[in-house]
Amino acid sequence: MNVRDSEVICGLLKRAGYKICIDEKEADLIIFNTCSVRQHAEDRVWSLIGSYKGSKVIGLVGCMAQNYKEEAFNRDANIKFVVGPQDIHKLPDILSKFDDNNLLERKIWETDGNIRPDEIYQSGFYNDLTHAYLVISEGCSNFCTYCVVPYVRGPLRHRKSENILKEAQEAVANGVTKITLLGQNVNAYKDENVNFVKLLTLFNEISGLKEFSFFTSHPKDANKDFFRTIRDLGKLNKSLHLPVQSGSDRILKLMNRSYSRKEYLGLVDSYRKIVKGGILTTDIIVGFPTETDVDFSETYDLVKRAEFNAAFIFKYSTRPHTEANKLADDVPRSEKEKRHENILDLQRRISKKASRISKND
Ligand code: SF4
Repeated sequence: MNVRDSEVICGLLKRAGYKICIDEKEADLIIFNTCSVRQHAEDRVWSLIGSYKGSKVIGLVGCMAQNYKEEAFNRDANIKFVVGPQDIHKLPDILSKFDDNNLLERKIWETDGNIRPDEIYQSGFYNDLTHAYLVISEGCSNFCTYCVVPYVRGPLRHRKSENILKEAQEAVANGVTKITLLGQNVNAYKDENVNFVKLLTLFNEISGLKEFSFFTSHPKDANKDFFRTIRDLGKLNKSLHLPVQSGSDRILKLMNRSYSRKEYLGLVDSYRKIVKGGILTTDIIVGFPTETDVDFSETYDLVKRAEFNAAFIFKYSTRPHTEANKLADDVPRSEKEKRHENILDLQRRISKKASRISKND
């Protein structure tokens, strides 16, 4: 999502007459479009901003802006404006307030927006001229207890299907051949009588589009009809990223993930049976508060059974605003590291075996 948001910002600023610099040394102003999902990502941004030591005008945009709001000015005095993800369309106006010496009358803080105007997606700016990222829905209403997204990006909103298709058709007319549909929970998409399966079918019919994919799906909105659609649409990539997060029912409940271990493994079986040779990937969090050795061994066992093609494994870090933030972060760091390494090692072996099998096919 952030990659596409950065493209949207570039498109809006280009349209307003600003030049996007490839080499940061040439830039008068640096905008950090940020992510708050993990503490590590935030730490890197603070350290990068600090490294400019006042030599550039700095703007903090995106989830960290929403998260820190006015406090960001205290974190680093060189930050001149703070703009949340729902307010990025205000950036051309904010930049127009700088005088010729790059000075602003006052620091600007814009984090009160809740709806993005759909026109911002029509700026036609893509980093890759053949591959476009296309947002189909914004925000998330799932409130997984470890996740800050619903607090910084607001509730789930679906873009109108006709606007999405128009954006796709224009991108293809300009040379794009590959599209990735984006949303925090893409398969919950719904616009009147167009659900996600229908939207995929409409994309398959776009003349000139060669290939498309989507990212990210939630297990609670996945079913056999969805898998059959993946199988049947010729232009649709046969990959599914289906984050499981934990193999323990107790932890899944604490995470508010809305499915059980058994239900998740049932989805894996259905996907493998329906989409023969399909790629299946996942996300896992180790060291969630109160995770015991038994909980962890259930996650380990689930990974063994599901035989994912790849897995992205994260050590739990507490995020502000979230429900899990109220729980003690009680799994010691060394234990999180051990569990992370164990799952990583298992997944490496599974991925290696899967790639050997596909080479021999
Ligand atoms: S589905 Fe859960 S993890 Fe994903 S963005 Fe929504 S709240 Fe966060």
